[in-house]
Amino acid sequence: MRCVKCHETASVDLPSRNAAYCAPHYLEHFEYEVGHNIRSLKMFTTDERVLVAVSGGKDSLALWETLIRLGYKTTGFHLHLGIGEYSDLSREKTESYARAHNVELIVVEVEEAVGATIPEVSTALRRVPCSGCGLTKRYLMNRTARQQGFPVLATGHNLDDEAATLMGGILHWQMDSLGRQAPALESTHPKLGRKVKPLYTFSEKETASYAVLRRIDYVVDECPNSTGALSLLYKDVLNRIEAESHGTKLRFFQGYLKNLRPALASTGQKVELRECATCGEATTAEVCAYCRMVDRVYKWKQRRVAPTPAPVSPPT
Ligand code: SF4
Ligand SMILES: [Zn+2]
Ligand SMILES: [Zn+2]
Repeated sequence: MRCVKCHETASVDLPSRNAAYCAPHYLEHFEYEVGHNIRSLKMFTTDERVLVAVSGGKDSLALWETLIRLGYKTTGFHLHLGIGEYSDLSREKTESYARAHNVELIVVEVEEAVGATIPEVSTALRRVPCSGCGLTKRYLMNRTARQQGFPVLATGHNLDDEAATLMGGILHWQMDSLGRQAPALESTHPKLGRKVKPLYTFSEKETASYAVLRRIDYVVDECPNSTGALSLLYKDVLNRIEAESHGTKLRFFQGYLKNLRPALASTGQKVELRECATCGEATTAEVCAYCRMVDRVYKWKQRRVAPTPAPVSPPT
């Protein structure tokens, strides 16, 4: 296997692209394509401040590293979810990356913002942890970005994430979410920032190769709550198809962007957004889902601390 650029021995094989690269040329190829994705979809410019969601995993740290190297103005945003050792290690890796690269990092504690950790939220709502976690991440990241003057929010979603979400959307015909899935989403309300995913053309393996070659110290273990998630099943199925037919994942997602999304966008109903009566953030309801969640968590906590009434003695 030879590098397509210099014909030296290749260290990264990309059968889906019919290419292979030596380490320096792979890094160059990766960073060039991220820059191309950003420019071609007009995600952001070098003058804009970008808030990058950093979990401490390979994708988000690979994204941050690339954006720094490409000269974009970035600040990291880390949510400490309170999921035991996994969250502590994730925070440690993110903070040590920021220190080593001398870049700004905003850390928000979910326990402080919501009043409970993600496992407690899950108990209070009687729902799987990912439900409250996803809502909390979207809300706190958007609010922090707006309050601190970032017009754009970048996340490390890769091709595997996007293809699995698309597969789930099609299997269950979730027309609303299908119409909204895109690597670059414009703001639809003054209180909502632009959302972008510059790594959307790279598979999980490709971002991992970049992170390893750049010697990024990331959290290898996945969140303990991810086991059993349907998205992992879809990723597995897509990987099996990819192994037999190289390039399927990329063609599947790019085909959706080219053929289906424009049709859905032109026929889809425009969602009416207003300001939440409690917090003022953009929502479709009177009170936003985040405020309703915080309220339920608060009431659950109150019930837990309320003293049990003393037994009443029967009348004599
Ligand atoms: S897998 Fe973990 S980090 Fe991801 S949404 Fe679920 S609880 Fe949150
Ligand atoms: Zn080379
Ligand atoms: Zn609200």
